[in-house]
Amino acid sequence: MASISFKHFAGLRQSTLDNHHSLSSTAAKLKPIIRLRKITASVNSPKLSGRNLRVAVIGGGPAGGSAAETLAKGGIETFLIERKLDNCKPCGGAIPLCMVGEFDLPLDIIDRRVTKMKMISPSNVAVNIGKTLKPHEYIGMVRREVLDSYLRDRAAGAGASVMNGLFLKLDLPQSPNAPYTIHYTAYDAKTGGAGQRRTLEVDAVIGADGANSRVAKCIDAGEYEYAIAFQERIKIPERKMAYYENLAEMYVGDDVSPDFYGWVFPKCDHVAVGTGTVTHKSDIKKFQLATRNRAKDKITGGKIIRVEAHPIPEHPRPRRVLDRVALVGDAAGYVTKCSGEGIYFAAKSGRMCAEAVVEGSESGRRMVEEADMRRYLERWDKKYWSTYKVLDVLQKVFYRSNPAREAFVEMCGDEYVQKMTFDSYLYKRVVPGNPWEDLKLAVGTVGSLVRAYGLRREMDKIEA
Ligand SMILES: Cc1cc2nc3c(=O)[nH]c(=O)nc-3n(C[C@H](O)[C@H](O)[C@H](O)COP(=O)(O)OP(=O)(O)OC[C@H]3O[C@@H](n4cnc5c(N)ncnc54)[C@H](O)[C@@H]3O)c2cc1C
Repeated sequence: MASISFKHFAGLRQSTLDNHHSLSSTAAKLKPIIRLRKITASVNSPKLSGRNLRVAVIGGGPAGGSAAETLAKGGIETFLIERKLDNCKPCGGAIPLCMVGEFDLPLDIIDRRVTKMKMISPSNVAVNIGKTLKPHEYIGMVRREVLDSYLRDRAAGAGASVMNGLFLKLDLPQSPNAPYTIHYTAYDAKTGGAGQRRTLEVDAVIGADGANSRVAKCIDAGEYEYAIAFQERIKIPERKMAYYENLAEMYVGDDVSPDFYGWVFPKCDHVAVGTGTVTHKSDIKKFQLATRNRAKDKITGGKIIRVEAHPIPEHPRPRRVLDRVALVGDAAGYVTKCSGEGIYFAAKSGRMCAEAVVEGSESGRRMVEEADMRRYLERWDKKYWSTYKVLDVLQKVFYRSNPAREAFVEMCGDEYVQKMTFDSYLYKRVVPGNPWEDLKLAVGTVGSLVRAYGLRREMDKIEA
């Protein structure tokens, strides 16, 4: 464990670029969320007269939709620019239970409620996970086209101007408090779909434009390592679909991915079958074929209705805030290792960034400054840094070889492990452990690893 490197977290607390502009400890003091918070603005920022603060949110995924809604509700003049209003983001669409409550999601946008998970080892040993779930607990499965448009519509309902346009570039202000000029191609009714170059002046910008963020390029935010994820949506016969009614599968093994996992997630009337890798991107189709092969008994006879691929960030960007521009969601790099989860973190970071803007501007009456945007970063890092770190370590320990994966799957059979994992995933909180169970788990983990490596040595002898 000691040899595990945390260099991938350079974008979090250790980030030289972000820390270079770091706030004083006074500004970094944490307060509860905006609804409960006394609003305090940056004392130095000028009051606005005759208008409210104007903020552009670039990108209308979960990060952008929730940022725009919070801004608009908080008295900010909000512009949400999304290039494709019917965008169908390549995604497994698994969301934790806490997102449903925290973001007031209506139950009819959730296709499936998964209460059973099968974790399948390299040698096809399947462990059932879900025994510890309470009757009301589940993992939600959504289609992204449904979730994203629901969140954008809600932002529009709160007063945000949702614009169909492709963000092109950003002119940075030449003097303090001067506006940013957004350049974009508009695709609204007036342009007849042809696209027309336009500009928009705003006081601050939230970059929620995903893994290939142009906003990030405009502020020279630096690159991140990424995984490529590949997914096929497969319509399978109804009787086979019944098997996946409330069940998802995760496959681990060198064949499906050298550093991630393969999945079969149920959707409304089809399954999403996919895999990802950072280290062997050019072999992604080979891994996808292996994932399909491993699940073949259950998906044979299915028809592929959509093939999709997209990068998944591996760690935060070196810079996430510059002046009055902040990055959120995938644009910032907030996907967890090990699980590849990013929807909740995108929506949450969009909301937290917007809350900091509302707070810093006294509900839109003052100009904001970099310190206000940084307040979001500090709260974010304080809340989630350890979550990212733990999942990074787990991925490095358990996804590195087939014996380690066998041990991982064996460990997943333990009810205590299941409870801790589900509680942390579903509620996004660090669950206090039971010291005796933790000790048993540590001993059990070492035992599993030793057994798995022993087995591997025996198999190597047989093969030699
Ligand atoms: C195959 C795959 C499976 C995944 N499965 C899961 C899963 O099951 N659960 C989970 O939690 N996470 C999953 N993820 C990760 C998750 O999809 C992302 O973390 C999440 O979508 C991030 O949301 P976002 O709003 O930051 O960015 P995005 O969802 O990427 O949204 C960005 C938006 O910006 C728009 N945009 C981009 N550029 C411009 C521009 N120039 N102008 C205007 N608009 C622009 C895009 O059209 C898009 O709507 C998966 C990812 C992949 C690739």
